[in-house]
Amino acid sequence: RLARLRARLVKTNNIFGKGLLSLLSTDDIDEDVWDEIEETLLLADLGTDASMELVDNLRDRVTIEGSKDPAAVKQMLREELIKLIDPTLDRSLDDDRLGTDPSVMMVVGVNGVGKTTTVGKLARVLVAEDKDVILGAADTFRAAAAEQLTTWGARIGVPTVRSDVEGADPASVAFDAVAAGVENEVDVVLVDTAGRLQNKAGLMDELGKIKRVIEKKAPVREVLLVIDATTGQNGLSQAKVFSEAVNVTGIVLTKLDGTAKGGIVVAIQRQLGVPVKLIGLGEGADDLAPFETEAFVEALLA
Ligand code: GDP
Repeated sequence: RLARLRARLVKTNNIFGKGLLSLLSTDDIDEDVWDEIEETLLLADLGTDASMELVDNLRDRVTIEGSKDPAAVKQMLREELIKLIDPTLDRSLDDDRLGTDPSVMMVVGVNGVGKTTTVGKLARVLVAEDKDVILGAADTFRAAAAEQLTTWGARIGVPTVRSDVEGADPASVAFDAVAAGVENEVDVVLVDTAGRLQNKAGLMDELGKIKRVIEKKAPVREVLLVIDATTGQNGLSQAKVFSEAVNVTGIVLTKLDGTAKGGIVVAIQRQLGVPVKLIGLGEGADDLAPFETEAFVEALLA
């Protein structure tokens, strides 16, 4: 599993596992080298404060412990990277049915970040755990979205609730999906939503309405915000708009396979205080994994 994770994170691994480790193994790390280390961290989108904190901590340790032995340097970097990520964030998915109420999860985020794909992949993970799942195609804004979701559903063998009316009310499609979920006593209803990035008020209205309407039937247990890792700090500012508009319970960071900006995993959790629960590692059906701090850091340095 580690080898696979490492292979998918190869671009970010090049920065941490090769670039940083070799910089840190320099015989005499002078100010120029520390600057270079910090620039490298910023390039990987670790964020300013995390980069500074990491450099400060490493500098202290290198001064005290020395930096000659590559294995020791790697261990130091591993420990300091892990320390940047809050260990108290709860990364589990709230995916157990309560009585006849399914666990309802809304998937939100800007267009193109990978929402629909994530819903498909997540459904597959849940089905593999023997859970009954229904998909709700509440992205009624993008014409192809419902079709795309239905295709995912058919592939995995789970039903998709959708509307055939173009521009249908997303809240009403979401309601129908959750109602079908309650009726059939399924375990999880995954609701795909539209990703128009309007102003905060518009977004709040739309997502708030979907949530309120769903909750006439069953509580929304997860609001998963999907963020495209390749957009780096830009994705982070979009994420802030969403997290102000709706109570986000977890982040899905997609497209980590295609980017050297994998440090964004650290920046996002520090700046939003919301756990990354899942990571997207490719376009395929099996390319969704739970985020585990130690495994992730290990894959960056392996
Ligand atoms: P949506 O508009 O947010 O629903 O985005 P889509 O689910 O339609 O995804 C947009 C594109 O991103 C598609 O081509 C997906 O195959 C691709 N995509 C989604 N997740 C990942 C991922 O983790 N890695 C890669 N490489 N591509 C992804």
